Amino acid sequence: MRTALNGSLLLALGLAVGLSAQAQSTENGVGLVQLGQHSDDAVKDRQRQIKEELKHQDVSKADRGALKAESRKLDVEKQGNAIIGAYLRRLDGVGQRNGLQLSDITVSADPRHDFAGLGLTSEQLNNVAAPITNGFVMNRDGPIYVPTGSVLYRNSLGNTEFEDFGGAVLRHEQTHAQGGGEFLAYTVQQDVFHLFKGDFQPGNFQSLDEQLRASIERNREE
Ligand SMILES: [Zn+2]
Repeated sequence: MRTALNGSLLLALGLAVGLSAQAQSTENGVGLVQLGQHSDDAVKDRQRQIKEELKHQDVSKADRGALKAESRKLDVEKQGNAIIGAYLRRLDGVGQRNGLQLSDITVSADPRHDFAGLGLTSEQLNNVAAPITNGFVMNRDGPIYVPTGSVLYRNSLGNTEFEDFGGAVLRHEQTHAQGGGEFLAYTVQQDVFHLFKGDFQPGNFQSLDEQLRASIERNREE
């Protein structure tokens, strides 16, 4: 399926900052979720077990809450494995996976909550929670964080252009995890993006390419 990128997404893609607040997620409370920990079958088996355990009357309220949270967390992981797995397959298709694994990615369904108390300023917290933030890295060698509320993430599955772009975003963030600054990260992202040219409608390709080029130029003096 190929869907044209809409204007607001064109504006959003490739940018790592923004100020608009994310709508409250229904997935609140599951915490950070590292991907690649459970196969789909393992998720299904565990969720079936949880359903059975919840049928017992003697399960305490606290345990009940914990079981439900575990089940929601598995949902978030399963969805993440599918979406990020699609990005990684796109990278494989152009020989640009560069060693990235699902387990290198940690998704956040509620960045405001998940990154509270880590010393971020309120502006930084706004940024990590903004729908135009596709990914970020907090520490060198640390995980690549991907917010599940981004426009890119929510619209990726089955959309070739978005999956390609998501793959290029992962390479951008991997560059940071390896110690690179924005200039290098955007340069790597654009190089990878160019390999996907044949998948994009020409107008979309051109707009996104111009944004990436502007981002590279903006960071050239870094
Ligand atoms: Zn960056």
